[in-house]
Amino acid sequence: MKKKYQAMVLSCMDPRFQPIVYNYLKKKKLNGKYSAFTIAGSAIGVTANKFKKWQKSFWDNFNTSIKLHDIKKLIVINHRDCGAAKIINRKKEFTRINETKIHRNSFQKIKKIFKKKYPKLKIELKLISLNSKVETF
Ligand SMILES: [Zn+2]
Repeated sequence: MKKKYQAMVLSCMDPRFQPIVYNYLKKKKLNGKYSAFTIAGSAIGVTANKFKKWQKSFWDNFNTSIKLHDIKKLIVINHRDCGAAKIINRKKEFTRINETKIHRNSFQKIKKIFKKKYPKLKIELKLISLNSKVETF
């Protein structure tokens, strides 16, 4: 019997968020049911021009995971206070408004690419804070 996996999870490499992401997915009953791709910035890392070289690796891995694990969904988890967001923030101050804009932009970009490549699959876009508050985009 083929195992049923449900999703690939794209998240950031930030050490502070590993337990937060883990617990979030556990609460969603996804333990043992997702494949993980963890990279600086999550959606920012695979969409921003600054990190262009990383993008192909992500899509190649996602494609491989579809074939190997028969996944149907991509769950993207970005987080507040992200170093990658700070790197691409051209404005001097890293305000909450600028920060949210950077995340929204990365979500719009990844969703657009995703829908074009995989019109039949689903995508979820989440932004988590250090206090585990989850925002859906
Ligand atoms: Zn980060």
